[in-house]
Amino acid sequence: MSISENINFFKQTLPANVSLVAVSKFHPVNDLMEAYKAGQRIFGESRAQELVQKKQALPNDIEWHFIGQLQSNKVKDIAPFIHTIHSIDSLKLIEEVEKQAAKHDRTIRILLEIHIAQEETKAGFSPGECRDLLSSLSPENYPHVQFGGLMTMATNTDDTEQIRKEFRMLKSLYDDLKRTYLTDPHFNVLSMGMSSDYEIAISEGSNMIRVGSTIFGIRE
Ligand SMILES: *Cc1c(COP(=O)(O)O)cnc(C)c1O
Repeated sequence: MSISENINFFKQTLPANVSLVAVSKFHPVNDLMEAYKAGQRIFGESRAQELVQKKQALPNDIEWHFIGQLQSNKVKDIAPFIHTIHSIDSLKLIEEVEKQAAKHDRTIRILLEIHIAQEETKAGFSPGECRDLLSSLSPENYPHVQFGGLMTMATNTDDTEQIRKEFRMLKSLYDDLKRTYLTDPHFNVLSMGMSSDYEIAISEGSNMIRVGSTIFGIRE
């Protein structure tokens, strides 16, 4: 299947409330252009430098999402144009996004990354750390940051029940935070599900999936 056929497949099959982030990391600009021509407008990248180069080479109406681990000294490079950062895992990063977004008089949407997978290597707040952070922080103190939702990656396993359990846990945390700390209606994104597990994620309440290899093929 070609890239445009893959984009069309998702357009035809995804529920209307689920957004597709086309994860284009390590793929050449031509591949992104093919997806763009098929109608895709949201792209996700995981490295600041690669993202800046692709942004310059591609049409202006693309909504760019940052999904990789983000060093705070790289925030300034993407702040002029980034729409959403999925991988916010520290207060320091939130403060830096506020500072850099303010310089450009922009609002940047952030998703708090939650670590629920069994692998130690994955980043993010534990659910408890996330609650602690939100109980001690006032979103009004960050006028250029829009607290948009949560993001997670499930354990990399063939055990679909384990994956389902993790997504279910994240959905319940999301619902709880929405009732308690983040009652603003802009807190409305639950980013979970990748090529191997997006169907499970959607059935557990995801409304934003991040799909790379199923669209663009295996990364080199
Ligand atoms: C690479 C990546 C994806 C996409 O993974 P695929 O398995 O290629 O769909 C999604 N989310 C994050 C955070 C990633 O780093």
